[in-house]
Amino acid sequence: MPDLLDTLVIGGGPAGLTAAIYLARYYLKIRVIDAGASRAGWIPLSHNHAGYPDGISGHQLIANMRAQAARYGAIAEHGTVERLTLADGVYRAETSLGPVIARTVLLATGTLNRAPPMPHEEHNAAVTRGLLRYCPVCDGYEATDKTIAVLGRGEHGAHEALFLRSYSANVTLIDIDGDPGLGRSPPARSQMRGSRSSTDPRRGCGSRGTGSPSMSAARATVLIRSIPHSARTCARSSRSM
Ligand SMILES: Cc1cc2nc3c(=O)[nH]c(=O)nc-3n(C[C@H](O)[C@H](O)[C@H](O)COP(=O)(O)OP(=O)(O)OC[C@H]3O[C@@H](n4cnc5c(N)ncnc54)[C@H](O)[C@@H]3O)c2cc1C
Repeated sequence: MPDLLDTLVIGGGPAGLTAAIYLARYYLKIRVIDAGASRAGWIPLSHNHAGYPDGISGHQLIANMRAQAARYGAIAEHGTVERLTLADGVYRAETSLGPVIARTVLLATGTLNRAPPMPHEEHNAAVTRGLLRYCPVCDGYEATDKTIAVLGRGEHGAHEALFLRSYSANVTLIDIDGDPGLGRSPPARSQMRGSRSSTDPRRGCGSRGTGSPSMSAARATVLIRSIPHSARTCARSSRSM
């Protein structure tokens, strides 16, 4: 029977490691099990993290956090939690490192990116170069006055485009699902004053890019463009992102 822990932390990204630092400093008996796929590992250089005025890469941030947690005895172990059950007030986790039992479990498993349909190598190179980004709140500033294409879905995509509109006059919302309803919802529509949308499948590959002249956006508008299913292959082979 394994030792009973106070807390099992599942996930060793920024959230799990921050929790681990606090919990270890409370002298609680904890373990951190991490599958090693933190989204933070994708951050080429973050400038929004307080305390790092010259920026810090995601890998370095994780390394620093791991070292800080380890200083208090919280070593992030590489492994995967595969199953979690609760019986008689005790959690039992089946993990790649063997069974673990704990009074409490802290889920810090993060989220997964929904990558656009493009080859992995191109995707990774674009992220490394800061051409493809996943976090408007983190990176809007970096895109100040640049030409921005937002690969969005539904109303959420519309709101992200509107948010980025405060950094650049040149924002095009590309509906990656080819959903003609994008931006039609009253809240998003009313905010996109003067915007126009395109869902015409005949546009095809040739019309992708920063927008045809007839679609040029006036200031304070977001251009909406839809990628219909028939044009998905164009998106896959495109190098323009
Ligand atoms: C390209 C890119 C750039 C970004 N830039 C910034 C930025 O500049 N500034 C900023 O603040 N944020 C940025 N972010 C967002 C930031 O990376 C996330 O907000 C942050 O990583 C979330 O931390 P987390 O600990 O919640 O999750 P994650 O970092 O995703 O960590 C979760 C961990 O849990 C592990 N895990 C999941 N399931 C299991 C399981 N069953 N068993 C064991 N382990 C498991 C995963 O492998 C992973 O290691 C960016 C994200 C991306 C993709």
